[in-house]
Amino acid sequence: MLPFKLIYDDRYDLHLGAHVFPSQKYRLVRERLLAEGLADPGDFLSPEPATDGDILRVHSQDYVYKLKNGSLSYTEILRMEVPYSKELIEACWLAAGGSILAARHALIDGWAANIGGGFHHAYPDHGEGFCVIHDVAVAIRRLQFDRAIETAMILDTDVHHGNGTAAIFGGDGTVFTLSIHQEHNYPFPKPPSTMDINLADGIGDDDYLSILESHLQKAFTEFSPHLVFYVGGADPYREDQLGGLALTMEGLARRDALVFDYAKRHQAPVAITLAGGYARRVEDTVRIHVGTILAARDAALKKSKASAPGAAGEREKERGAISRS
Ligand SMILES: [Zn+2]
Repeated sequence: MLPFKLIYDDRYDLHLGAHVFPSQKYRLVRERLLAEGLADPGDFLSPEPATDGDILRVHSQDYVYKLKNGSLSYTEILRMEVPYSKELIEACWLAAGGSILAARHALIDGWAANIGGGFHHAYPDHGEGFCVIHDVAVAIRRLQFDRAIETAMILDTDVHHGNGTAAIFGGDGTVFTLSIHQEHNYPFPKPPSTMDINLADGIGDDDYLSILESHLQKAFTEFSPHLVFYVGGADPYREDQLGGLALTMEGLARRDALVFDYAKRHQAPVAITLAGGYARRVEDTVRIHVGTILAARDAALKKSKASAPGAAGEREKERGAISRS
């Protein structure tokens, strides 16, 4: 049994067949966690779809209308790079509901993971790069609306820059966005995040980890979030078909551990989303995502040993302060 909840629904799978986006990976991650005895069926929660009101805190009315009524133009559908269907829309609303649920459980347990989501290329008025609805932004806006949090930090380690994230939160002092990505890769242009780390092609484990660590240090010095959203892409992996970095599986596990260590040291609850992963062998992508869950488990267990009543108490006090303010 895991010390936190996993959010998952079979309808996350878009059944895209031979598409480069392996949406069956969500189901495979769940199956592997269960098969290896790393999680119990009771660890999983099924989300409700986000409401239209939730989606509309981030996305434009016109775009949401077109998504719901199937009236996107051919060019708009091409730009999404996933075929339009009613099931796609259902999956996107569910993934956003899943990230809301993960965020809520992160505030309760310190950690939670949506076995899906991380659609960081979605803009308020259009979808692109396999991303239709920005589930992480929807979740942050919902929790801010509920006054459960005031501030959030998005730590995005997907190999591709979080352009939708940057566009949504640019100029918003309540949300700190960090993206560490391959510079010479999609998307173009890259609107500025609060902190962008542009990596050269072919960077390996040691360089990546030391660059990431120095920026995490800086980010947490500058900003103290009520919640961290981790967009933990599997695509910095050296065997990725859409990435040009050279991280190993071990390096990716160290990356996750490093991110979680920083969040824990700063007493920030963490909501995890999976984001991209296009390894030649889908089993590799699944293994990397499972590794992210295991790194969170290890960090969570370490935390309870180091004793966190103090930290949890501090968070409780802070939440009390928010609800009073
Ligand atoms: Zn990616």
